[in-house]
Amino acid sequence: MTTLTKGRTMSESANTPAARTGDGGSRVITIGQGKTIKDAAARMLSHNVGCLIVVDDQDRFIGLITERDISRHVAIHPDAGEGIQVRQIMTHRVVSGAPGIATSEATRIMMANRIRHLPLVENGVVVGILSSRDIMSQQLMEDRAAAEEVAMLSKCLKSIDLSEAAEIVAAEAPKLFKASNSVLCLYPGGDHTREPELISSNRCPCVGGHLKGPKGLDATQGQGDSAEASGPNSHLDAKIDAECARCGGKPPRVVLPLEITGLPEFGSGKEKRLTGFLCMCGLPESSLANCELVEYKAKLTREILIAHLTNATRYQQARLTSLTDPLTGVGSRKLLEDKLHEEHDRAIRYKRPFSVAIIDLDHFKMINDSFGHALGDEAIRRLAECVRQEKRGLDVLARYGGDEFVLLLPETCAEEAGALLERVRLRVRDISFDDTDKAAAAPGVALSISCGVAESLLDASEVSGDVMRRADVALYEAKNAGRNCVKVWCPEMNRLACTGDIEIERIKKLQRRIMGLSEKAEKLFMESIWSLVQALEAKDLYARKHSENVTAYAVGIAHTMELGPKYVDLIRRSAMIHDIGKIGIPDAVLFKPDHLTAHERRVIEQHPLIAVKILEKMSFLENEIAIIRHHHEKWNGQGYPDGLSRTAIPLGARVIAVADVFDALVSSRAYHASRSVAEVLAILKDSSGYDFDPTVVVAMIAWIESVAHRAGHAVEEITADGLLAACESVKAGQEPISPAGVDRQGLVQPPAESPVHVLA
Ligand code: GH3
Ligand code: MG
Repeated sequence: MTTLTKGRTMSESANTPAARTGDGGSRVITIGQGKTIKDAAARMLSHNVGCLIVVDDQDRFIGLITERDISRHVAIHPDAGEGIQVRQIMTHRVVSGAPGIATSEATRIMMANRIRHLPLVENGVVVGILSSRDIMSQQLMEDRAAAEEVAMLSKCLKSIDLSEAAEIVAAEAPKLFKASNSVLCLYPGGDHTREPELISSNRCPCVGGHLKGPKGLDATQGQGDSAEASGPNSHLDAKIDAECARCGGKPPRVVLPLEITGLPEFGSGKEKRLTGFLCMCGLPESSLANCELVEYKAKLTREILIAHLTNATRYQQARLTSLTDPLTGVGSRKLLEDKLHEEHDRAIRYKRPFSVAIIDLDHFKMINDSFGHALGDEAIRRLAECVRQEKRGLDVLARYGGDEFVLLLPETCAEEAGALLERVRLRVRDISFDDTDKAAAAPGVALSISCGVAESLLDASEVSGDVMRRADVALYEAKNAGRNCVKVWCPEMNRLACTGDIEIERIKKLQRRIMGLSEKAEKLFMESIWSLVQALEAKDLYARKHSENVTAYAVGIAHTMELGPKYVDLIRRSAMIHDIGKIGIPDAVLFKPDHLTAHERRVIEQHPLIAVKILEKMSFLENEIAIIRHHHEKWNGQGYPDGLSRTAIPLGARVIAVADVFDALVSSRAYHASRSVAEVLAILKDSSGYDFDPTVVVAMIAWIESVAHRAGHAVEEITADGLLAACESVKAGQEPISPAGVDRQGLVQPPAESPVHVLA
């Protein structure tokens, strides 16, 4: 009588699904219980089986005898003879299974009972025998088939483009599992509460509403070093979440957790990590019975997906890096080139205009040099942000070089582009670094930009780079015009550069650089001389602020004479340092409260020549030196050091002479008290045509009258302080007045329009 132990009963196993089941067991070879073990061994040998079913006289199944039973018996009882019957050593309590038992279950039973053969019994009749060898070879075949299927998936994954790759995954992977729906989701930083960075669905009903991987696939998972360490390979679930079911998802489902690591985080230099899952639902019910095979396939699939998606993500990052500027996040030069090409073709095709603007920070090197690269970087970022805020949706902003940006403006003529860039320019002036963190703090630093704008010509002979070349010419004009301005290209500017001539472009760039450098050098030099002048004047109670005041009056006169911005600037610079030569005069003479002796007077009269000695190596101060040398000449030729007269004296020197005496007379000196403005004007009028150029005196009086008029005073009421305050307002941009008939003869020499001469 058979006793079924441990293994499933037939009725229990009747529901076992057919897939990967052991219904194909070995042939059933029987032997009568009365036969000898020698017969049994011969029978096994002849049928090439390892076990026989033992039957009684009515052919009923009563037990099992195996090769192992026989060999164990012979080993223990070597002299027992050959007459031992099968029933004496057979196994009575036979562990059996039902036909259709899952191989995993059959394997488990065999392992638990340490047996290698499992009879399959149906209605008390042995219908087959399952051996561990059969199971193993069947598993091997199935695993190989699964691996081949998964390999087919990897052949489908041809695209390296991330979103295309994701679509292929969502479409092809479910076929391996006969799943009806699928969705692939990847979240940034492993945080599944954020918006997915990538999502691709193949009929997933949850997309757009609830979307969740199985429990455990959240930010807490995947902290390990590798994907392997990050959690289970897959989840095969008989059930699905209630939300999924409500949306229309169907169990069973399989979910593959995915983790992509080792990606460079764009712009931050940190490592980026994406985690998520591929969820496939609507699998056949049989998947559950054969969960081992499903999980094996899922493991292989997951490995392939992780490898492919990692490659695709890396490729995407690399593309992004090449198209984006890491410092500012705006487009890269490569992006600009691509877009410019596209826009050029589109503009020619549809005869629609577009414009480009090149934006360059002014004196940016000085910001780097004075405040460090951290602030320089911050300045570049803020400029980018500023343009970004002003530009329109379709405009493309790209970083073109160190401190250069390009704005590509589709459907925009040059005039409109110029207006937009003017708004950008004004915005840039408001950029402040007062709130910057300590590392880059620089309160009071002001930025300005120069900008060149050009419009496409819609001419078939034009190539896409031509518009950039014109914008660059316009930028050069903007820099040349003193910076902090926007210039729109016009054909006259082409004198400067022949389209397509690269050398000229390079030369222009270099010229701009040199111009910037010499301007910076001049500025630095002037600053250091100015501080010397101030130190010198600080020693003299009576001369404090003298040079500053003379500068203010001289500029007032120069404006009134309408001398033009460059010449006004020359006068300003000359006036600031006109007394620098006094540095060489002994203090005892310079600060002597009494009247000077003739000798002392001769000593003090050396100061213009000492100034020339100090400054003469500075070729960029050539014009200033001439003015400073002659600022004590007199209109009638009685002055020093050269006794020049009338217009032989540089105009700047004549202007400073009047301003110099005016300040001396309205200020207290050791040897005289201060005089009123009206008194001093009277003295000047008296000396006009003798000591001073009458035109300059006229201009001085006109300027003072206009200041008094504006302040609502008579000339008699205006004070020196009032005049100086008025100079401040002229600095702030008020219109200077201009009396008629001002003589401009004797300008030192017309200042060059630019320190660097451009190509003719
Ligand atoms: P100009 O008014 O003529 O434009 O003079 P500039 O001093 O701005 O000179 P130019 O535009 O020729 O020089 C740009 C400088 O920008 C050169 C380089 O030292 C600096 N630079 C380039 N890239 C970076 C960067 O990424 N960060 C910082 N901080 N500086 C940069
Ligand atoms: Mg610059």
